[in-house]
Amino acid sequence: MNAPAPLVDRFARAITYLRLSVTDRCDLRCTYCMPERMTFLPRAEVLSLEELYRLSLHFIARGVTKLRLTGGEPLVRRDMVDLVRALGRHLGEGGLQELTLTTNGTRLAEFADDLAAAGVRRINVSLDTLDRARFAALARRDSLPQVLEGLAAARAAGLKVKLNAVALKGVNEDELPDLVAWAHGQGHDVTLIEVMPLGDVGEDRIDHYLPLDAVRRDLEQRWTLVPNGHSSGGPARYVDIAETGGRLGFITPLTGNFCATCNRVRVTATGQLYMCLGGEGRVDLRAALRSQDPDAALADAFARAMGEKQEAHSFVIDRAGAAPAVSRHMSMTGG
Ligand code: SAM
Ligand code: SF4
Repeated sequence: MNAPAPLVDRFARAITYLRLSVTDRCDLRCTYCMPERMTFLPRAEVLSLEELYRLSLHFIARGVTKLRLTGGEPLVRRDMVDLVRALGRHLGEGGLQELTLTTNGTRLAEFADDLAAAGVRRINVSLDTLDRARFAALARRDSLPQVLEGLAAARAAGLKVKLNAVALKGVNEDELPDLVAWAHGQGHDVTLIEVMPLGDVGEDRIDHYLPLDAVRRDLEQRWTLVPNGHSSGGPARYVDIAETGGRLGFITPLTGNFCATCNRVRVTATGQLYMCLGGEGRVDLRAALRSQDPDAALADAFARAMGEKQEAHSFVIDRAGAAPAVSRHMSMTGG
């Protein structure tokens, strides 16, 4: 029997990277991500762990080599580690090359060892500030101590950590150089992210939108930034900082164009395949998974998705009071 064909879209981009959201729930309420009174999905709508696993295997069979588990906060889902263990068995020759996750770090102290034992080597941890009061205001929860504990546990477990920080005007703008210096001192790479117009969060994002070219100019006053060819096929561009010896990435969905090399798709916790974070186009994989003939239905759904993946995203934050360009929250599609 022939091996199933790799996933390639109509612009000849091979899809090798899946971001799979395992829950839309979270123990924090970052102001740029979700409102305090967030409406979460009814549990019945969310894929079971077994469904998440089966779906992942279909993607692996179709050429996905990198799988990132995300959310919401992936580590608030009970039994998440069982899924990581099951997927970890597919690491290696002909299967997954990398299994990773993006987490806010609050539960890492509990899970870092299990993740490492399951074959996870690198994780992304989101951390926007090192100031406890600021963290509590930004995440609406006083959880910085747990996150720092989690980072220490990750290090002790041998996990390589990349920190993600959303750059926010008037919020953590003044702290970004210190955050980068601290992270590099701890041996963590850092990526700065421009805030994206995803979902209504009850405030106007133009108030906090901070273009990263301005941040970069500021950092260049202080350090020597050496462009680095490293690429994940995604929106990040990297430099090495000569003085700290660490790597710094810039994710500029609004000012940079990276869509031509896009290699990724996203699946929500309800099994909706979004071909682009910045678009509304989606294909229902849950219906396919739960159909009489899941293999055929999924093959059909994948073909539709590859035919519909858009050429480029449609983000823009240019008007005060504008509705979000994409109505769903980041916690739904996964970061
Ligand atoms: N809860 C986990 C975490 O915070 O790392 C994983 C999911 S979270 C949605 C993934 C990433 O998206 C985080 O780094 C977060 O800062 C980022 N994020 C959330 N909303 C965003 C927005 N509107 N613009 C830019 N980044 C956002
Ligand atoms: Fe939760 Fe991550 Fe969204 Fe913050 S960014 S509210 S940690 S999902």
